[in-house]
Amino acid sequence: MRQAPVIRFDDVTKTYMRGQHPAVENLDIEFSRGEFVFLVGASGSGKSTLMRMVLKEVAPTRGTVYVAGKDLSRLPSWKVPSLRRDIGMVFQDFRLLPSKTAYQNIEFALAVIGTPRKVVRRLVPEMLEMVGLEDKGKRLPHELSGGEQQRVAIARAYVNRPSILLADEPTGNLDPSTASGILDLLTEINERGTTVVMATHDRNAVDRMQRRVVEMVGGQVVRDEEGGSYETPAPVSVISGNLPDDSAHREEHPLDDESLVADWDGAPEQEPSEAEPALAAARHDAEPGSGVPVRDILEEDLIDEREAQRVRDEDPFAEDDEEELR
Ligand code: ADP
Ligand code: MG
Repeated sequence: MRQAPVIRFDDVTKTYMRGQHPAVENLDIEFSRGEFVFLVGASGSGKSTLMRMVLKEVAPTRGTVYVAGKDLSRLPSWKVPSLRRDIGMVFQDFRLLPSKTAYQNIEFALAVIGTPRKVVRRLVPEMLEMVGLEDKGKRLPHELSGGEQQRVAIARAYVNRPSILLADEPTGNLDPSTASGILDLLTEINERGTTVVMATHDRNAVDRMQRRVVEMVGGQVVRDEEGGSYETPAPVSVISGNLPDDSAHREEHPLDDESLVADWDGAPEQEPSEAEPALAAARHDAEPGSGVPVRDILEEDLIDEREAQRVRDEDPFAEDDEEELR
């Protein structure tokens, strides 16, 4: 079932600060085109760092990361937007633009790459429908429940039909039944051909899906199991032993900006729909510098639908080689 790797880590170590324990250490792993992979492990185990290296937001200290066969360290900075355009990203805290409607949030992802208006007018409603929000396009994020906001975020991440979707604890703020709907959506996206890598503490999700599970402890992969579940029946190594999820480790990771909300494992005690918009809004005070991937507004060419389709069907870098290099 596995095909050519779309992501490959070749002996990758990332140390953020000299003298610190590496966030990711000697990572050797491949993700194949079309796979659905769960990344599990306590807070601070390196899941987000792994994902950020795929986006070239973080450079490895040692080793090589390949995306679609290309060594990212050799990817010139002007090609990084094109890399990111082909990688959708979904976060635990949604990261929608708070002053834009659901429709506009999705539209924005198309507008920044110069998609013609006619195509936008067709694609945005199509996306809203795919995520089950066709009647809520005019709502602002704070007028949507947490689950609905995450649906908008997924629509925005998917509207360019990326070949990879990275989801960093996408259900971490959601109650179990809402989370399960989000998982269904990610499954659908995966079935349409996108490689999905999802970091999660969501035991239900992992156990229900029975997909590949990669478990990290202290920056290292301690388990890589097809059809796995959240917990392994027998620890594969001493350190994999059944470490509790995370709470005990929070203090050790003051720089992990997710740690305040990222890592609780159970259902929230109240309906999330009330608490979350406020939370999300609070976290958006810093926009637009808050890590929202505002992509390549200036340098992208106009793409029409056929072009977009062709690009989707190809190596994500191919268009650069052929056209932008001229
Ligand atoms: P996870 O997503 O599994 O919680 P992270 O990749 O966020 O793990 O973090 C792995 C380790 O790297 C942690 O010890 C964390 O504190 C550290 N770390 C993450 N980001 C940074 C950063 N920007 N600067 C310094 N240390 C970081
Ligand atoms: Mg993380």
